[in-house]
Amino acid sequence: MQQFQISFTDQTILSKKLDEINQWCDTHPAYTKIVRIYSEDMELDHIKQICDILNEKMPDALYLGCTSNANILDGVLVNAKFILTCTIFEYETTQAKVLQFPFTEETVKEDVENLRNFCADHPWVKAVEMHATIMDMSMKEFCDEMTKLPKEIQVFGGGAFNPNMDDDRAFVFSKGNGFLEHGIVFLLLGGEDFHTYSTFISGWKPLKRRFRVTKADREILYELDGKPAFEIYQKFLNINKNDKFFSNTLEFPLFVEHDDVDILRCPLAVNDDDSLVMSSDMQEDTIVRLAYGDPETILSSIRRDGQTIANFRPEVIQTFSCAARRAFWGDENISDETFPFRGVAPTTGFYTHGEFLRIHGDMLNFNVTLVIAAMREGEPKTNEIVSIYDTQLDNVEKIPIIRRFVSFIEASTAELEEINMKLAMTSITDGLTKLYNRAEIERRIHSALEKRANNRMGHGLSLIMLDIDNFKKVNDIYGHKEGDHVIQALSDVLREETIGIHSCFIGRWGGEEFMVLLSESNAEEAVRLAEKIRLAFAAVTYETAGPQTVSIGVTQMKDGEDADTIYTRVDKALYTAKANGKNQVVRMD
Ligand code: GH3
Ligand code: MG
Ligand code: MG
Repeated sequence: MQQFQISFTDQTILSKKLDEINQWCDTHPAYTKIVRIYSEDMELDHIKQICDILNEKMPDALYLGCTSNANILDGVLVNAKFILTCTIFEYETTQAKVLQFPFTEETVKEDVENLRNFCADHPWVKAVEMHATIMDMSMKEFCDEMTKLPKEIQVFGGGAFNPNMDDDRAFVFSKGNGFLEHGIVFLLLGGEDFHTYSTFISGWKPLKRRFRVTKADREILYELDGKPAFEIYQKFLNINKNDKFFSNTLEFPLFVEHDDVDILRCPLAVNDDDSLVMSSDMQEDTIVRLAYGDPETILSSIRRDGQTIANFRPEVIQTFSCAARRAFWGDENISDETFPFRGVAPTTGFYTHGEFLRIHGDMLNFNVTLVIAAMREGEPKTNEIVSIYDTQLDNVEKIPIIRRFVSFIEASTAELEEINMKLAMTSITDGLTKLYNRAEIERRIHSALEKRANNRMGHGLSLIMLDIDNFKKVNDIYGHKEGDHVIQALSDVLREETIGIHSCFIGRWGGEEFMVLLSESNAEEAVRLAEKIRLAFAAVTYETAGPQTVSIGVTQMKDGEDADTIYTRVDKALYTAKANGKNQVVRMD
């Protein structure tokens, strides 16, 4: 496979360049010809002129393309309106096909079905490269449908975009199919000698602070930690609601843990109710974090993953990078990310606002990511090791400051999280026994009762209430400290005897009284446990106070009962145990 790369602003130079390519083809094996055109020029007439020239000069070439934010040629951001690449396949076995469809949420299913049908009829398909207009569209259904393609087919690509990040207009086009403002174009590649390897590089790092998605519906993210989602940008990053919202948030996407692949998600817009329109569906109860770009991390992932790409010995490298990465690095430095690949193979591509890649069969929609597809025909032409260029950061002054600030934020967040955890623990535990305190065990009993009320099937719910016998005497004779030891000893017995019991919670009810909640045990099981606790406690001997005993009440909840009714009954059972001579278990139904 041979790749010719041309960048130009004035399309009149194109004819001459195409003549040169045709001359090359006359003297080399040249079968299928694919031309990709990426345009920063939003004037359809200008792109049409290019297509006309192509139709005339290279009538046997398939072509496709889209508008973009900016273009990459020979591994660097180009300062020209258009780039055009012409891939000449040198093996007769290599096949290609372009499909183009209108693309809206209504057509997604049918579009992908058409693609799947084509693939089913043409088993040579190994890879699908795609360009689509995706602004303001949920990509969930598209990705779900694409996931149903045969597992071995690789898919990669990017959204058509606009040089102005705040402008939604974008086009895709392809030979014989015209131009679509809401369209998708698939380039299908395959054949026995065609090989491809696709991957992605992010390098964006999540900050420690976690936020839970508490309310989301499809791609609308309503709440994080119960607060309007927009607050994450307004409060923490001082980003306001204005027409620059999209470009301002682009560099700080949300990091979402998604199975084994971490995905970055960008907010596209903010609604009047402070909810965010995200680039893809958000699931409730997932954890998100703000992410930021760190130049050193990015370049080290390029070095590492880039070498794997180099080892594949590609002849062509297609890149689909995010306009957010360009905004982050700035035009001066953005090429540091793609430049290292130019020594491996001709590297071209464009900046988009949604990258696509299929990983382990799953079609994923990325943001702020660099998706790379490496292609080759036949076996590697050389056994020599091809090394990726090692780019070093020239912009060294900027990096330590960012790193130090991030390190400061991370350290403060970690410290706060630890304090919060400790506070949360202390607010629910009893200091002397480290069991739950009264408020917490009551809260747990109430919530267990509520759960049972909503779901009547299930196990019994029982309570065990305990009170140490003649405890005043221990205090009076042996002192308060020894009294404390006895209380601690009972709490140890409670912990030990309940190990392995499902849905069992123990709390200090007050003084030397305890409550055990068994939300999945009936009265018989509770009595058996109570008896074990009574015997175990009686077997403990204290240095000065000698052995002590405990009286225990047990009861099981009946359908429809509230907490107070059960507390009264278990308390009565305990009172009866005391009245009957103490050191015993009494069950009351
Ligand atoms: P009964 O067998 O009827 O339960 O008799 P009792 O002496 O145990 O009577 P009661 O349950 O009313 O006694 C509770 C005593 O527990 C009173 C109080 O001084 C003591 N107490 C409460 N909290 C603590 C504590 O944290 N440490 C110690 N050492 N004593 C406590
Ligand atoms: Mg008591
Ligand atoms: Mg007592």
